[in-house]
Formats: sequence, structure tokens, C-alpha cells
Amino acid sequence: MYSETGDWRDRAACINADPELFFPVGETLAGDRQQIADAKKFCGSCLARDACYEYAITTNQDSGIWGNTTEKERRLIKRALINARRRRSVETTYN
Ligand code: SF4
Repeated sequence: MYSETGDWRDRAACINADPELFFPVGETLAGDRQQIADAKKFCGSCLARDACYEYAITTNQDSGIWGNTTEKERRLIKRALINARRRRSVETTYN
């Protein structure tokens, strides 16, 4: 759970990593993909992953790797969440 005090950051596996690693310029070039893979290695063992992901989603972090997701992955997730919410709203209205 995201905490306003930022406690989850204390458990971040990337706490001493180079922050640049988590902000690739793109996602398509081989170098970008390798950088993303290297960043996600940290996320894979991170005790703060769920909180980091939740923070990124709730605060609309639109760049970088957060909670083992790229910005493109988060856009797709958010779109799916919005579509699911719309479907539920329509079902509630017409049922
Ligand atoms: S999930 Fe990844 S980006 Fe987030 S704190 Fe952990 S290692 Fe860092």
C-alpha cells in the first residue's frame, strides 16, 4: 500500500542503483530493451514492488520503470482499467 510517508521506498531494491537505469529513452531499440530488462531485474526481487506499482498508477507516472512496469505497460493497464470501469457503469445503468 502506498504510504504518504514514502516508507515503501526504504525497501526498494533499487535504492542504491543509478536512477538513469529506470528511465530508458525509448522501448524499441535493442539498447532500450536491454536497459528495461536490467531495470526489471531489480523489480523482480523488490519488496516494495506492489507499493511502487500502486504509486505509479495512482500518481500517473508516465515515464520510467515503476513496479516492474514500463510506461507503455502502465498505459495499457490504465486503459484496461478505464474500459472495465465503463463496462461496469453501463451494466449498472441498464441492468
Ligand atoms: S519495483 Fe522496481 S522501480 Fe519500484 S522500487 Fe522496486 S526496484 Fe525500484
